[in-house]
Parts: sequence; C-alpha cells; structure tokens
Amino acid sequence: MTFPPDFLWGTATSAYQVEGGNKNSDWWTWEQSGRMPCGPDTAAVACDWWRNAERDLDLAAELGTNAHRLSLEWSRIEPEPSVFDDAALGRYREILQHCRAAGLEPMVTLHHFSNPLWLVEKGDFNNDIVVEYFRRYAAKVVDVLGDLVPKWVTINEPITYAVLRYLTGDFPHTKRGFGALNEGIGHLLRCHAAAYQAIKERYPAALVSTADNMQVFEAPPDGNALDRWWARRVSAFYNDAWPAALHTGIFRTPFGRHKIKGLAGTADFSGINYYTRFHVKFPPPKGFVERQWGEGAIVSDGNYGEVYPYGLYRMIKRVLPYGKPIYITENGVPDATDRIRPGFILDHLRQVWQAISFCFPVMGYYHWSLVDNFEWERGWSQRFGLIALDPDTQERTWRPSAYLYREICRSYTVTDDMARRYAPEMLDVMWPGNSPEMVS
Ligand code: BGC
Repeated sequence: MTFPPDFLWGTATSAYQVEGGNKNSDWWTWEQSGRMPCGPDTAAVACDWWRNAERDLDLAAELGTNAHRLSLEWSRIEPEPSVFDDAALGRYREILQHCRAAGLEPMVTLHHFSNPLWLVEKGDFNNDIVVEYFRRYAAKVVDVLGDLVPKWVTINEPITYAVLRYLTGDFPHTKRGFGALNEGIGHLLRCHAAAYQAIKERYPAALVSTADNMQVFEAPPDGNALDRWWARRVSAFYNDAWPAALHTGIFRTPFGRHKIKGLAGTADFSGINYYTRFHVKFPPPKGFVERQWGEGAIVSDGNYGEVYPYGLYRMIKRVLPYGKPIYITENGVPDATDRIRPGFILDHLRQVWQAISFCFPVMGYYHWSLVDNFEWERGWSQRFGLIALDPDTQERTWRPSAYLYREICRSYTVTDDMARRYAPEMLDVMWPGNSPEMVS
C-alpha cells in the first residue's frame, strides 16, 4: 500500500502532557486536589520537555517522520493576565527551530485541555472575557512564532473538552451541567473564530483549524430502535456539530441553533482525532457511553476502548462534504506491552490508504504519541507511546511499533512483509489469502 510522496508522517504530543513543571495550569492544582482517579500520579517532570524537548524530537526524526504536532502552554506564556513571558516564548522558538532543523514540519496547537489559573479564577469559558484574552494570546504567539509554523490548531477536541469538564466532571472544572456546557461551547467557538482571524491577519497562507475528536457511536448489535436513534443523536452532536459550525457559522444543538459572528469559513482543513467505537444505549448510563464491547472485540489497556480501524475510514468519509484537506491529527492506542499496537497501526493506515485510493484528500497522519506521556486523569496508567518512558528515570525504550512506524515512514508504504514480521495476525485481515496457512 503506497502513500503519496508529499504525505506527512507525524507524531503528536501536548504541552502539559510532556513538558513538566506547568505550575500555573489548572491541571497542576487538580492533580494536588486528590480528585483524579489515578491517585498520586503527577505531571511534575512529565517527559522533561521544558528542559529537553530536543531529545524526543531527535527520536521523532530517527523514526523517519517529517512532521510533529505539539502544543503551547498558555499558562506559561501568559502567567498573569496581560503579562507575557518573553523567555517562555523564546524557549518555544528554540523548540520549533529544532523541529524544523530535524526535518519535522510543526503543527502547533494553542489550547490543549489546560488553562492558566488566573483565567479559571475569572470563569474561563463561562465568561465572555475569555474571547478577548484568547485572541490576544493567539496574536502574541503568532507575532513571535508565526514565521516557523505553517499549520495551526486553535483548540484541541473542543467538544470532548467541554463534555469531560461540564458533563462527566473528569477534567478540572468549577461548573457542571447542560447550561454550563452550552455556554462553554459557545465561548470555545468564539475563541476559535477570534484566534483564526488573528492568525490569518498575520499569516494569510497559514492553515488553521481545530483537531476534533471523532468516534463511532453505535447501538450494540442487540440494540433496539431507540438505541439506534440515540446513537445517531449522540454522533450528530459529538462528531458533526462543531465542524459544521466552523463551515456554516451556525452551531446546532438539541437545545437550538446559535449563529456566531465571524465563525463561518474558519476551518482550512479537517483535523480528525480518532481512537475508538462506543456502543450507546438509551437511556444513557452514567458517563453517557457503555464501556462494553461485542464478542471478539480487541480492547485496549484499562478498558480504554475497542480497536475498530474501519471507524477511521468512516470518519474520513464523514468530513468529506466540507471539501477541505484532511489530516489525522491523532490516532493511537494505550498498550504498555505493545501487544496490539503494531496491528493497530497497520490496519488504521490501511484505512487511510484506502481513502487516498478513492482520491479523498488525506494529507497526513500524526500518531498519538511519540513517547509515553501524562494521560490526564488516568495519569501514567495508560501508555500511548511508540517509545516507552519510565517517568522516574526518564529512560526511553523503543517499542516494536516504533521500529514498524519507522519502516513505514521511511518507505511510504505498508506491506505484507511488515505485517508478517510485526503483526502476523493482520495478514489474513489485510491481505486475505496471504497467511502461511492459506498459502500451504
Ligand atoms: C487527547 C490527548 C490524549 C489522547 C489519549 C486525545 O483525546 O487529545 O491529549 O492523551 O486522546 O486519550
């Protein structure tokens, strides 16, 4: 399976999860609050990127990738309202220059789940002033770093972020409930529109969008008509409402429709973060989705989710009507022992290849993640890295998947020979008739 010569092969990380020492972030205090299910885990040093991001970026280059998606920590850049830290911006410049020198095209996210504490005190996404603060933060960042960055993500997974704060309460929050959710999403949309304009005024050729978490929501095989109706509603809200709003300027929810000024036409690409498929039932259980899988399903560590590669193809098809270039801005699996990751990578890339074969404009793929990092409320209990990390010693070890991804990135192909060596169980799935048993 051959990929185009200009295809972007990347990995993805986010600031809070890898940098360490982000004391001015709301996650830092959340960790201390004892409200995280992972207990005493902390992002104290994380992957030590603030001191030495270069070590892992060099590994990314060794992997044969030509792109990397990373994020900036707002609470570091603006530790107090309207006070920008030039030294922090200087450090980000260094990191981005290193990326480029290592042959990695940077895609930069402005907001990835973490807020400055001072913003939280002001009500963050439940207060109108967040829009002007976010616009100014974006403008400042682009003034200093814009010449190094061709692609921007304003906000990572806005709907997931809002759901995990306002509905499930898994993420740091001060308010809960549908009212707060609705208000929060409204402000996230306005923040995105303001940042989009700030970037484009300065660098009209930059590509700007959001990275949207898209998952398959389906009724279980034994589900009834009500379950199927509910699955469609959940999917329309979770997968479609946000990207559609960026194209039309209108956000539709079960509660109504909001027209947002300056929002229409603010997505230069479709960014898909795809992980899994969920079964949903009506009425929804606590937590909204069933963590139960069909017979024979391959489930990743900690019951995180089902491995369902075809879902990636389905999500690519879902964003086709927007007519924009498509980037898989995240895709990965928690798998400490690498028992399923090689097959996961091969089969998800098969879906991407299939899409490209139909001339769907998929331009790049960023694997989550380069190295094990701090997995939010699940702490260090889930390992997404191609490269394993011991957070205590900072020792790094290449998982077999890292070697596989290197072969793929270097050759721009996925081959049956790779499957034979890294994930023989995939041979019959991806190349029927090609397994040793079938040949003999
Ligand atoms: C988020 C990452 C997270 C990953 C794995 C994505 O939804 O953007 O920050 O680590 O999922 O759960």
